[in-house]
Amino acid sequence: MITPQEATQIINSHLLRFANEIVGLNQARGRILQESVVADRDFPPFNRVTMDGVAYSIDQVSGENPEMVIEGMQLAGEPSKTLIQHNNCLEVMTGAVLPSGADTVSPYEEVDIREENGKKIAILKTAPEKKGKNVHPQGYDRSQGEELLSVGTWLGAAEIAVAASVGKETLTVTQLPEVAIVSTGDELVPVSEQPEPYQIRQSNNYALKAALSAVGATARFYHLPDSLEKTTTGLAEVLENHPVVILSGGVSKGKRDYVPVALEQLGVKKLFHRVKQRPGKPFWFGIKDNQNAVFALPGNPVSTFMCFHRYVQPWLERSLGAKATATRWATLSDNVKFEPELMYFLTVMAHPSEDGQFLAKPIQGHGSGDFANLLHCNGFLELPADRSHFRQGEAFPFIPFM
Ligand code: AMP
Ligand code: MG
Repeated sequence: MITPQEATQIINSHLLRFANEIVGLNQARGRILQESVVADRDFPPFNRVTMDGVAYSIDQVSGENPEMVIEGMQLAGEPSKTLIQHNNCLEVMTGAVLPSGADTVSPYEEVDIREENGKKIAILKTAPEKKGKNVHPQGYDRSQGEELLSVGTWLGAAEIAVAASVGKETLTVTQLPEVAIVSTGDELVPVSEQPEPYQIRQSNNYALKAALSAVGATARFYHLPDSLEKTTTGLAEVLENHPVVILSGGVSKGKRDYVPVALEQLGVKKLFHRVKQRPGKPFWFGIKDNQNAVFALPGNPVSTFMCFHRYVQPWLERSLGAKATATRWATLSDNVKFEPELMYFLTVMAHPSEDGQFLAKPIQGHGSGDFANLLHCNGFLELPADRSHFRQGEAFPFIPFM
């Protein structure tokens, strides 16, 4: 049996590579960028007025309440105008180019405007603070040619806005695989069927599909009965059609747990079976010809759920080319005792407390079959195997649920 750290290491050194595709900006959210996005112009591209008001040259104003003749108006979207007289001003609107000859803007709130002999005069009620006030200078944020988004960036709303601003109508991103989700077990019936008293409805596959959709991947369901022959023929078809295969159940020591045997018969190379963790000890992982990655997760719903979040999801994100994310930590709100020499994935409800700590309250439930308990949890803590007492106030890695 290997440790969760070893399992992670093995999994992450067997990433798959997916092709790239081009998607429209409106389809890009949540995808992993596979091109470098560069500033085609300075950010901002011109000296941009940031307040509605009047623009003038600060060197031309002096005294308590300087007065200036208003020469005209510079609206947003107009080419740059030029001050004819150095000591005059122009009315300017937010988003307009700063007129040439001006360097400072006073907002309307600080200006009185009166008419005199058909001329408009601006009187500054407050002297300007400093040159450049209310002007966002050209290139102040980013320079033309600078890389704004690099390969491996997860595309959220801000990234999409930046891509739009440099004229990218489409983006190159990693193609998302259609993952095979394979449930196993003679006791399972489809959700649409009324189970007999000795049967249960399939739920792991839905949990996996929902969690996968958070990464953007789609999934197709398969179901295998507890027969070696049917498991082998079924898995052969699955491996043909899906690079990523997630199974649940059939990997323990039961008399009808045929998944590991069938996978090996089909040429999937076992990289490990059984991990020193609870829940999820029977976890099996293998690779076929660097074409298929097979995660055979234990069938108990809490085990399936946790192994997905702890191993499969990070592996998928990396295989899609995403940059590695930093470990999150949360602080235990209560003492916890766990004696077996296994890493303990402790289900918790974690939330930021009043004093700014990210506090995780243990919600232990009734073992790995108690998936209704997950309704009260938003993730789990990793409590190391070499200890049995975990104290309130100690911080541990926190894995959030999707
Ligand atoms: P196994 O790992 O096949 O021994 O299954 C362990 C437990 O998980 C059994 O009680 C199964 O009925 C249950 N189980 C397995 N697969 C699923 C599934 N897809 N949905 C819900 N429960 C499952
Ligand atoms: Mg089973």
